[in-house]
Amino acid sequence: MSEKIFIHVDMNAFFASIEQRDYPKLLGKPVAVTNGEHGSCIITSSYEARAFGIKTGMRISDGRKICPYLVQRPSRPKVYAETSTRIMNILHNISPDIQIYSVDEAFLELTNCMKIYKEINHVIYKIKDLIYESENLKCSIGISFSKSLAKYASKINKPDGITYINKNNYHEYLDNSPIDTLCGVSTGVKSFLNHHGVYKCSDMKKLPISILSNRFGNIGKKIWLMANGNDFEGLIPDLNHPKSLGHGKVLKPNTKSSYLIKKVFLRMSNKLALRLRKSNYESNIFLIGIKIKAGWIQKKVKIEKATCNRNDIFNICLSYLNLFEKNTGIYQVQVTALNPLKKNTQMDIFSKDNDKSEVLDQALENIHDKFGPETIKPARLISDDTDSPDVIAPAWRPSGHRKSV
Ligand SMILES: [Mg+2]
Repeated sequence: MSEKIFIHVDMNAFFASIEQRDYPKLLGKPVAVTNGEHGSCIITSSYEARAFGIKTGMRISDGRKICPYLVQRPSRPKVYAETSTRIMNILHNISPDIQIYSVDEAFLELTNCMKIYKEINHVIYKIKDLIYESENLKCSIGISFSKSLAKYASKINKPDGITYINKNNYHEYLDNSPIDTLCGVSTGVKSFLNHHGVYKCSDMKKLPISILSNRFGNIGKKIWLMANGNDFEGLIPDLNHPKSLGHGKVLKPNTKSSYLIKKVFLRMSNKLALRLRKSNYESNIFLIGIKIKAGWIQKKVKIEKATCNRNDIFNICLSYLNLFEKNTGIYQVQVTALNPLKKNTQMDIFSKDNDKSEVLDQALENIHDKFGPETIKPARLISDDTDSPDVIAPAWRPSGHRKSV
């Protein structure tokens, strides 16, 4: 069997680079991103700042002592999350075998895709070009036969680097590197290993794997294998990733009241938004369907910014509905979020920047959780003459669709 090919894509100084991209006067300057205008703790910094010794977690006042011209930028989590989503979508198009590791990192397995791409370098440059074209941002890419080595490799040439570790050269890279350069080696693990005489990766050969697995379980075992270049962990895909989330409704045959049809769409949009929010998904492609006598007429609507907001979804439905002549007899409607993607969960490290509709939706969700669904709903839906049972949306497919969301 031929060797597996994993790559690890890591955006370079992600948040700080986005600040420099959006405010070009910051290019080439030491920039520190903090939580809000008055935040005192540095979340991340540009390479220029790092050259002065600025580190994540440092107080901005301490940072200014070693770098007097440090520019402080308040974080813009929404912008970072949107940028991240677009980048992950680009990567998803390169290979469906993807594990999104964090807001700015992902693993891709290219083993199967190489039949299409032929040359690994083509794929690597394609990824870099696509991300740069779309986002004007740079990334480092590590390539190897295991995930942990690919991650290790992406750290070697930063920024904008490409590093290939293969079966012939991995000892050169790994053997002399300090044990804590491996992902997952915390201070506790490190001191345990040091205590057993393991300082660099090649020292691990002296230590039986059982000592690590007895003390740290599976993580210990994995660290032992990583240090020996022997880690066979595959991608951990988001098993619960649904292909689509949707709602549909059968109407009284030949319904012509636009008031009633809008009401149904409002109800569908509310329900879909709630489901997306509850499962922490959002989407930027919605399939809106209207069934007339002749059959389904559907349209995929792509919006710029992924959403899970009720009003956004309802407005998409309305704009589609407006394309139909008044008095068109309608039999059924559907609203489906296609390829929903995880909202960025890391963003809760930032406290500000929630817009009002987001806060409102969150409050509604909390009330529904506590008092049952539809406890609070738009006035139009109080006397709900649209409340017939939901149907499965036509976009639904039995395979790959989870039932739990
Ligand atoms: Mg990074």
